[in-house]
Amino acid sequence: EQDDPDLYVRIVDRKSDGIVVRGAKLHITGASLVHEQVVMPTKAMRPEEADYAVSFSIPTNTSGVKIINRSFAEETAVDPFDYPFSARASMPEGFVVFDDVFVPWERVFLAGETHLAGHFARALGLWERTLGLAEAVEHAEIIVGLAALVTEQQGKERKPDVQNTLAELIAYAELLRMSLDYAVRNFERTPSGMVTPNVLAVNVAKYHYAAHFHEMVRNLQDVSGGLVLTLPKKADLDHPVAGPLLRKYLHTRDGVAIEDRMRVFNGIRDLTADSYGGWQQVVALQAGGGLLAQRVMMNRTFDIEAAKHKALRAVGATIKE
Ligand SMILES: Cc1cc2nc3c(=O)[nH]c(=O)nc-3n(C[C@H](O)[C@H](O)[C@H](O)COP(=O)(O)OP(=O)(O)OC[C@H]3O[C@@H](n4cnc5c(N)ncnc54)[C@H](O)[C@@H]3O)c2cc1C
Repeated sequence: EQDDPDLYVRIVDRKSDGIVVRGAKLHITGASLVHEQVVMPTKAMRPEEADYAVSFSIPTNTSGVKIINRSFAEETAVDPFDYPFSARASMPEGFVVFDDVFVPWERVFLAGETHLAGHFARALGLWERTLGLAEAVEHAEIIVGLAALVTEQQGKERKPDVQNTLAELIAYAELLRMSLDYAVRNFERTPSGMVTPNVLAVNVAKYHYAAHFHEMVRNLQDVSGGLVLTLPKKADLDHPVAGPLLRKYLHTRDGVAIEDRMRVFNGIRDLTADSYGGWQQVVALQAGGGLLAQRVMMNRTFDIEAAKHKALRAVGATIKE
């Protein structure tokens, strides 16, 4: 329970034509870029929390909606050569405040039905995790590719250490791809006929992604070396004095263009070690819910009785039917 009842979005007034809501949603990705704010509870609600069991959709420019933006992006334009990912992937995070916002009834989905709040929260988590996984699968493969390229460009790709690291990265990426694929193929159907990805599989996949992402970043950075951070910029390569020096001292082997080598290092830095890279590391953990959220869902949806039954049978113990 919080000191200030407004901290979680709640209904503060009920009128004949709608409700008035107050509260804040602290981390809404892209809130200021979209036409509608769709609001829902992020947890199940107890009967005494009826004012907090609220869901609605309103235009972003509704009176009383205030968005305070934060972005990982540089405030000035950056060269896509130096920032291959973040130069084209900026995404503002919105700290969204509902300052006594009127919502007409036709835009209200939930207003006090506490027994339904958990459904909204679980649906949000499920789809958010599924979406995050689709992107994570792509990123994981890009990480494998960057590790292969950076080591090839230095001529060390056949070294046992590098091969071991590449295998670790491949195992991570492939398990991620397989688990998302499994989750989608083994979909579930709600009583009303709505099809959703497999809940247990999505949570296992998201857990795998989040729990091991930082280890994969470490592996990539480990095989890459210090140029991840110390590589000069495109402007230096274009400079009449610095440029030729960079071309001479960044040379590794024939056939490796200096620009390509720089692009690969820039990709590694941008994706794992700079503002966007830092953002990615917290996104992996927190977006769609932290590790705890997936642990709760895995415990809730795994068939633990079947596993106990199997274990009892395996050890020859008595099975009570
Ligand atoms: C970049 C980014 C974008 C996001 N975008 C969106 C978005 O668009 N829409 C949206 O709805 N959400 C979004 N989120 C929110 C995200 O789902 C939450 O940040 C996440 O669920 C963690 O909740 P929290 O930040 O309130 O932290 P907390 O709830 O404080 O959780 C942090 C940690 O505290 C611990 N903890 C929390 N509660 C308990 C408990 N009851 N018992 C024991 N330990 C506990 C756990 O270790 C947990 O991992 C975004 C988050 C980030 C970082």
